[in-house]
Amino acid sequence: MDNLTITSFHKGLVAREFSAREAAESYFKKIAAGNPSLNAYLSTAEASALEAAADADARVADARARGAEDAIPALMGVPLAIKDNILIKGLPATAASNILAGYTASYDAGVTAKLKAAHAVFLGKTNMDEFAMGSSTETSAFGIAHNPHDTDRVPGGSSGGSAAAVAADLAVAALGSDTGGSIRQPASLCGIVGFKPTYGAVSRAGLIAMASSLDQIGPLTKTVEDAALLYEAIAGADPLDATSTDEGALAARGIASLPPLAEVTRLTIGLPKEYFVDGLDKDVAARVEGAIAKLKKMGFAFKEISLPHTRYALSCYYIVMPAEVSSNLARFDGIRYARMPKVAEAVAVREASLMDIYLKQRGLGLGTEAKRRVLLGTFVLSSGYYDAYYEKAQRVRTLITNDFAAAFEGVDAILTPVAPSPAFKIGEKANDPLSMYLEDIFTIPVNLAGLPGLSLPTEPYPLGGGTLPVGFQLIGKKWHEADILNIGRHYERN
Ligand code: GLN
Repeated sequence: MDNLTITSFHKGLVAREFSAREAAESYFKKIAAGNPSLNAYLSTAEASALEAAADADARVADARARGAEDAIPALMGVPLAIKDNILIKGLPATAASNILAGYTASYDAGVTAKLKAAHAVFLGKTNMDEFAMGSSTETSAFGIAHNPHDTDRVPGGSSGGSAAAVAADLAVAALGSDTGGSIRQPASLCGIVGFKPTYGAVSRAGLIAMASSLDQIGPLTKTVEDAALLYEAIAGADPLDATSTDEGALAARGIASLPPLAEVTRLTIGLPKEYFVDGLDKDVAARVEGAIAKLKKMGFAFKEISLPHTRYALSCYYIVMPAEVSSNLARFDGIRYARMPKVAEAVAVREASLMDIYLKQRGLGLGTEAKRRVLLGTFVLSSGYYDAYYEKAQRVRTLITNDFAAAFEGVDAILTPVAPSPAFKIGEKANDPLSMYLEDIFTIPVNLAGLPGLSLPTEPYPLGGGTLPVGFQLIGKKWHEADILNIGRHYERN
């Protein structure tokens, strides 16, 4: 039962090679052996997982008795890992922050409800950067996650635990969230597939919000085919998320069936000259060029394009995102959300003012990076600075969105690198926020424009005697996730 994908799991389950319960048990064994060195999971959920697996087995038996094996859903019994900022009723949800330590979710997120209805099995909750702020999982309050390809290196972030779990086969597939690259960058650094859908395609209800106009939940998987299957299961409008629409679900319908290559190669791929620049590691660039060459051989036509406002994207993101962070994190004050200060401190707190309680609780509960962003966000929104920063950044965001719209008049998809370098050493960038922020230079514009982005592995990066994974990114038009998934699936077959 090693290295199962959603597709091979389904085949094995239907062919009675194993039961969902046996599969779940085998994954918990792997987690017990592998997680201590990776810290990919923050918590596991044996009892509820085994119960869900037994339920899946009963449904499979029932379908078999009725001769309806063909109707068994693709995710039936599939063991998944879920990022710890996505709620599953009855399980912990900390977003890797001390301020939420001990919190248990009281309801299911939109995506977890959908996955439960598809009879998937949740193995546990994965490690991440605190509140999804970071690119390495080093800001997690509960220890750093490690890259399975080299445990001295980061798995990327913020969905680093999900990426490490899938890459090390401690789950068949996983969910992450992506605000500026948090699905695609860790997928690239861990050598797996990461997919951020169009903004609004997947419900954000029950996702602990980082920056609401940018956040989107999506799959981290071993194959592009699996990403399509998992996306199909989670897409769709949700009454609890007003920004979610059915356009996503409609676009996802039938996404699992792959059109022939001859049809897919009608799509033209654009190469933005602003993305192949000096800061890009030359070995990474060579791997991305390799992917382009392979796609050309397969019959795809390429065209140079320009996205002229790309150089403003990072600055724009680091104004818009913290502004939203400062607003979203205000609820964690020890009164509305998050626990009150410990009993001993509470006695002193009783005599204190409301402001003292806020300061104490937030001061103790939030890590340095979260504080930095709350401060930055509060500053850019404050009177006298709002026009100079926040409003201006919103205008730049429109320019970036328009750049993509103009480019998509001439091409159907855009190919770029995912991250400027392969997995870096733990500690290498931890004390240098600016160099950490640069990790997302190729992924952030996609969030600002609300587009779908797919990260998939290319040839590995040579290093010393070994290698490290490298990914490339395919960016699609709004609601055209099928285009980039189809290109990716043919690439992976090749
Ligand atoms: N690394 C980026 C940041 O720190 C993106 C994070 C994310 O996508 N959640 O903001």
